[in-house]
Amino acid sequence: MPIVQLEDITYSYNHEPAVEGVTLSIDQGDFVGFIGPNGSGKSTLIKIILGLLKPDKGKVYLFGTKVEKFSDWEKIGYVPQKAGLMPVKFPITVGEIVALSAKNKSAANSALEAIDMRKHKNSLITELSGGQQQRVFIARALATQPQLLILDEPTVGVDAEAQSGFYDLLKHLNETKKLTLILVSHDVDVVAHEVKTIVCINKNLVCHGPPKDIISGDFINQLYGKHLKFVVHGH
Ligand code: ADP
Ligand code: MG
Repeated sequence: MPIVQLEDITYSYNHEPAVEGVTLSIDQGDFVGFIGPNGSGKSTLIKIILGLLKPDKGKVYLFGTKVEKFSDWEKIGYVPQKAGLMPVKFPITVGEIVALSAKNKSAANSALEAIDMRKHKNSLITELSGGQQQRVFIARALATQPQLLILDEPTVGVDAEAQSGFYDLLKHLNETKKLTLILVSHDVDVVAHEVKTIVCINKNLVCHGPPKDIISGDFINQLYGKHLKFVVHGH
């Protein structure tokens, strides 16, 4: 049974289509990268998966249940775009933020452990860098012990070094905890090296498959135009 199943999804904002005819399924244990240019409908599609937007046409199933009837929301963690860049102005500690959504104390602690932020438990969120704040929001999502974690552009504003550690963490969670991951990004080159499956979106579903197939095909040109020089680094 797929964890996420989309059937012929179409969605428009003010009669302007943002997502058109998308059919897609995501299996348990996958690590999926949603790629596509800015404005191609990635965030919209994520909000449809989460039932935050109701498609004009098509069906959404989560864990085999129609999204309208789905109620096990604690199975799904979501970190929206720009979560880590939102200025948090009130004096709340890292530990408190994570505890707010944690099932229990040990879930809160292991979420902080997973993102290597336990030592910052008593730090105020305002004292942390954008990248560290992003980790805290991910810890908060992990503290609910989800089976599916959806991250929308999580590394925007995070420096390259922190980014590499961040991807290691996601891989680790995917491999050891069997956490299914959907990672939205416009950075094709990076994502192609980190995920198991790529989904290319440009209103429609342009491609879906393992990175090596996507990179060797002509999909990236279709997606971004011929001007994008796509370099595959050997890291
Ligand atoms: P992406 O996440 O790939 O950058 P989005 O899903 O955010 O793309 O946006 C897809 C299209 O829908 C864009 O043209 C965007 O301008 C438009 N759009 C997104 N959100 C809204 C909204 N709340 N109202 C109107 N148009 C929107
Ligand atoms: Mg977006």
